[in-house]
Amino acid sequence: MELLNETHAPALRSWVRSANQSGCDFPIQNLPFGVFRRVGSEEAFRAGVAIGDQILDLQQLQDSGVVAGEAAEALAACQGDTLNSLMALGQPAWSALRLALSRALREGAAEAGQLQACLLPQADAEYKLPATIGDYTDFYTSIHHATRVGSLFRPDNPLLPNYKWVPIGYHGRSSSIGISGQQFRRPLGQTKAPDAEVPSLGPCKRLDYELELGIYIGAGNELGEPIALDAADNHVFGLCLFNDWSARDIQAWEYQPLGPFLSKSFASTVSPWVITLEALAPYRTAWQRDSADPQPLSYLESAQNRASGALDIQLEVLLQTAQMREAGEPACRLSASNFRDSYWSIAQMVSHHSINGCNLKPGDFFGSGTQSGPEQSESGSLLELSQGGKQPITLPNGETRTFLADGDSVILRGCCEKAGAPRIGFGEVVATVLPAVEL
Ligand code: CA
Repeated sequence: MELLNETHAPALRSWVRSANQSGCDFPIQNLPFGVFRRVGSEEAFRAGVAIGDQILDLQQLQDSGVVAGEAAEALAACQGDTLNSLMALGQPAWSALRLALSRALREGAAEAGQLQACLLPQADAEYKLPATIGDYTDFYTSIHHATRVGSLFRPDNPLLPNYKWVPIGYHGRSSSIGISGQQFRRPLGQTKAPDAEVPSLGPCKRLDYELELGIYIGAGNELGEPIALDAADNHVFGLCLFNDWSARDIQAWEYQPLGPFLSKSFASTVSPWVITLEALAPYRTAWQRDSADPQPLSYLESAQNRASGALDIQLEVLLQTAQMREAGEPACRLSASNFRDSYWSIAQMVSHHSINGCNLKPGDFFGSGTQSGPEQSESGSLLELSQGGKQPITLPNGETRTFLADGDSVILRGCCEKAGAPRIGFGEVVATVLPAVEL
């Protein structure tokens, strides 16, 4: 399949004027999917596509009858309050719908007059999870994160021997994944201080965020039938921003020998819009493996993955404390990184996940793992930025943080940008820490 087609043409403009403004996250080349309704209403949630500062209502689009052919079948799968049916249809159907949407939203489209009535301003919308997430798997694909965190505990030997061979992951919990705007209580848990004789129950003292990408699986595979590396991208519907909150002190006590448990399952937050892999095609880039490192086993190795397996996605974390919010001060940036620094590609994650025959299903979800870059300032968690809580960060208003305080809001943003290509934005995901339940 050719990666680029007429929907990626940088010169395309939309009759939705806000989509043409420079710096817009949702130009006509993006066309991400989400599930929304009018804010504060009792309306049914329904599927939509972001265009500029508007949402194209896919239920109303269906009723308008302007979409025909294979795209109409895909559009019919968008009715209801989740995208799982669309995800299940597979890549050719997603692509047909994207092409129809691109043509209908272009400047000069004959449908413009009719579709004007299918728009709702994003400022008037609220969102829910875009899919019913069956299983959630959390990977650990940033070698910079793994090394920095490992060196806090094992300075001489930060990376465990399997890291450079296996896309490390564990099975997470989907029930506590929430949509942007989520507010959650600081978790209670069992912790044990190094000098304490016995553990105790209390509010988490080392609450952290994790800057991650979320990956929605589209068409699945049959149990027992692995997904080949070069077919893997066709099983991925799209990406979002993902904050995978972590209770570091609870984790430190509970994680051996079976891995994280309650330190991860209290909340995780996704952004509303799912950016399709097709929209990200202009930002594919070479996947590289240092020649001094082990090269992947053959099931994780291909010319296609080498040529275009990585994605150039800029990511950033911002923090707004309760004090900043009350003073009317904007969020401040804590760090930035790029997904192209990931040690494993998305296709490698999918292929590895299914190599044992495990079946993936439409709407299953992967976390990429915390995305940190090679520099300390590119750390995707407070655990790294504060060097394990030893080095407080000073914020512009003079407050300091090693870990998160009650009332803190964490915002993740992401975008793809380069000369000669349309900007593809991810929007943002925000969530806020509430005080723990009183014991
Ligand atoms: Ca994680």
